[in-house]
Amino acid sequence: MTTPSTKPALKLDGIYMDHAATTPCDPRVVEAMLPYFTQNFGNPGSRNHSFGWKAEAGVDKAREQVAALIGADEKEIIFTSGATEGNNLAIKGAAYMYEKAPAGSQKRGHIITGTIEHKAVLDPCKRLQKEGFEVTFLSPPKDGVYTAEMIKAAMREDTILVSIMWANNEIGTINEIPEIGKLCHEHGAIFHVDGTQWVGKMPTNVERDNIDLLSFSGHKLYGPKGVGALYVRRRKPRVRLTSLFDGGGQERGFRSGTLNVTGIVGLGKACEIAMQEMDYDGQRLLALRQYMEAEVTKHLDSCEVNGHATKRLPHIANISFGFVEGEGLMMAIKDIACSSGSACTSASLEPSYVLKGLGVGDELAHSSLRLSMGRWTTKEEVDFAVKKIVEAVKKLRVMSPLYDMHKEGIDLSKVEWAHH
Ligand SMILES: *Cc1c(COP(=O)(O)O)cnc(C)c1O
Repeated sequence: MTTPSTKPALKLDGIYMDHAATTPCDPRVVEAMLPYFTQNFGNPGSRNHSFGWKAEAGVDKAREQVAALIGADEKEIIFTSGATEGNNLAIKGAAYMYEKAPAGSQKRGHIITGTIEHKAVLDPCKRLQKEGFEVTFLSPPKDGVYTAEMIKAAMREDTILVSIMWANNEIGTINEIPEIGKLCHEHGAIFHVDGTQWVGKMPTNVERDNIDLLSFSGHKLYGPKGVGALYVRRRKPRVRLTSLFDGGGQERGFRSGTLNVTGIVGLGKACEIAMQEMDYDGQRLLALRQYMEAEVTKHLDSCEVNGHATKRLPHIANISFGFVEGEGLMMAIKDIACSSGSACTSASLEPSYVLKGLGVGDELAHSSLRLSMGRWTTKEEVDFAVKKIVEAVKKLRVMSPLYDMHKEGIDLSKVEWAHH
């Protein structure tokens, strides 16, 4: 496996293991974007002068690059501000277009989604539920993988839309997307996939994978923030959407607003690079992730890798550490930029709803780490992170009376604690 000859160097200022939150922009992407801030700054909607034509040419090229990455036609790509907008447009747009009864009435239609989807899917579904749609939120099995069987059991006569993510952003688990898509088409339901963690990392073909609507985002695939795309199928079936914005009618009326030309050009370049380098990156990161998980579990007992053993993205590891306190763990490894199993809400730290959904207890969810690697992560960085984590967990366990009891062979689940 040789390094792609065009891959530029990028030295980050610290150890970054949070690529599932966002990725650095590839220097090749920045280079492609630069002319569109200054010389090629025109509005692609200006049809009568060269400034507009140059901007339009940049957008056209990007549309081809994005479409090529997912096996779509250029006409099926709608540029958005990111996956949050793409998910909202897909879910609400399809629900309003295909509803069975008019606004205000009950029984507008049935929607299926999962409880461990991203908030940008869950919250639009909850809003639709308030507006009279019926929504089934499916709980995941313990390994976190949604199968076609599960969707089939929830499918109804009046199901209009199914929204299931390709790969989970916290645990990296991969769902049975092609099989679920086939099922949806047999039942005449529209199939939306939040592909934000998948597209650009893993091979994607909307035809083979039976997808009708696919959202993804630039900043998760080494492109810029604030830009993304929604694939909207044009044939077999032709998918229609009610637009969320009214205005200039750009993007064939699906998404009014002057196009973010620099962002779109960057997204296009990021997709082109992803197509060339995803095999190399994927193989390299899978080896690094497996090495990291093996090293951590070799040096520490009472820790568990979350999610399915093999149906997982190459670059995301999520590990729970028993007998340590979550905040203490995060403090002890603050040299490593990563995510914990705690989410900040307005008042307190809440355990991750994804880990809770898999049956991980609150305590263990708080003491979990998501380590997600990327294009410039090195073996040396992984070694450093493993060393830091192992040291921190061992140190924290010295202070844990529960860990002592566990080591003495006492089954803590059977202990009767004195109540005061
Ligand atoms: C990051 C992410 C989003 C949100 O994407 P934005 O472009 O930041 O709006 C949605 N879904 C998943 C699975 C994500 O990982």
